[in-house]
Amino acid sequence: MSVIDFDLVSRHLDIPPDAAQILRKSEQEMYANLNFKWDGRLVQADTYIVLHNTVRGPAKGGIRMSEDVSLEETKRLAELMTYKCALARIPFGGGKSGIRISPKSLCPEARRDLIHEYIHVFEHYLRSGTYVPAPDMGTGPSDMATIYGATHMPECVTGKPPRIGGLPGREEATGYGVAVATKLAVEDTLGKKLEDVTVAVQGFGNVGKWTARFLSQWGAQVMGLSDVSSAVLADKPISDTAIAEASSPAELGLKEIRRDDLLLADVDVLIPAAAGGVINAQVAAGIQAKLVIEAANDPVITEGDGVMQERGIHVIPDILANSGGVIASYIEWRQGKSGSLTDKSETYEVIEKQITRAYADVSSLAKSKSVSHRLAAQVIAVDEVIQSMRDRGWI
Ligand code: NAD
Repeated sequence: MSVIDFDLVSRHLDIPPDAAQILRKSEQEMYANLNFKWDGRLVQADTYIVLHNTVRGPAKGGIRMSEDVSLEETKRLAELMTYKCALARIPFGGGKSGIRISPKSLCPEARRDLIHEYIHVFEHYLRSGTYVPAPDMGTGPSDMATIYGATHMPECVTGKPPRIGGLPGREEATGYGVAVATKLAVEDTLGKKLEDVTVAVQGFGNVGKWTARFLSQWGAQVMGLSDVSSAVLADKPISDTAIAEASSPAELGLKEIRRDDLLLADVDVLIPAAAGGVINAQVAAGIQAKLVIEAANDPVITEGDGVMQERGIHVIPDILANSGGVIASYIEWRQGKSGSLTDKSETYEVIEKQITRAYADVSSLAKSKSVSHRLAAQVIAVDEVIQSMRDRGWI
């Protein structure tokens, strides 16, 4: 199912039938069964690369490694990337990879063999620059370094370690952007300052941990944190230093609660920054936060979105809130092509500028049409992609 409700979007935007027909389908969906021998044993992983739409530029999107990966999920995530890049006004299309295997089942050497197999099978897409991967759940900079090591083309992959052509600030870029979007949304929708709100963050990986750290540094009261195996809720705000030093919420030594109860915590702002589909109708009915920031991709299912709208809970959609990572990827790609150098302050500056502008566009349309932030973001992003199709004579 498409991430865009074209019937709903078309109430606010003229969508030519040819454009809708192109956007309802992926441009390309590739499958491979990656095979390699490890420790005398055959290891196999179903693997997908989906290019949703490349009208605005190379297909950009991370490589997800998880035993839950499916073609359907990879298609939705590729589609989200098309609209995320369009809303951030960066010249990339939407793509995504999924490798169906548990990252925990692989030692570093086996993991390198798996990534080499991925490169071997999909080499054409990587070397031609048609698809430019980055890290996503279950993958990280060292995997991107393996891809760079095989192609010797710095622009064919982003999210590399800074010493080998990666971008200073890329590691924390998504969390930084989520924190910027949270600050803007707190002021705009709740009419409060960041210092005056309490926050709970689900997920303690790259995105969740950095989001919590920036928000805590900027004065927000971070009260709740969770990961796949633990959740904590504090009596007083958790400091940035404590968050930085812990490798899991359990290590903070605070009051533990049931993992999924974190979503229902009595806080002003809830930030799902872990997996997709965690807010269904039942969870949405119990959420106490007045503002939800989608740091993860696709964390709210349609029914959950409907319930939150009915309850007057503001939701800042993923294509706006978590675009800091792809904005940083764009700077890294540009750096790889030009050989220029970028410092961390420039990375932060560009993310803040692009997200602030996109937020202003979305908020203004949401107010003028009395629609949700999600619908406003989709209308702007779909319009941008349609205009790009006209520029290229596709429609
Ligand atoms: P990650 O693998 O680094 O971290 C995921 C975290 O979520 C881990 O702490 C894990 O324990 C936790 N988790 C998993 N299931 C959970 C559950 N049911 N309840 C609570 N915690 C749970 O992944 P990441 O890179 O931080 O990505 C998180 C989300 O953000 C994903 O949806 C990803 O697609 C999205 N995203 C990531 C980036 C990026 O730059 N890394 C950019 C944009 C969007």
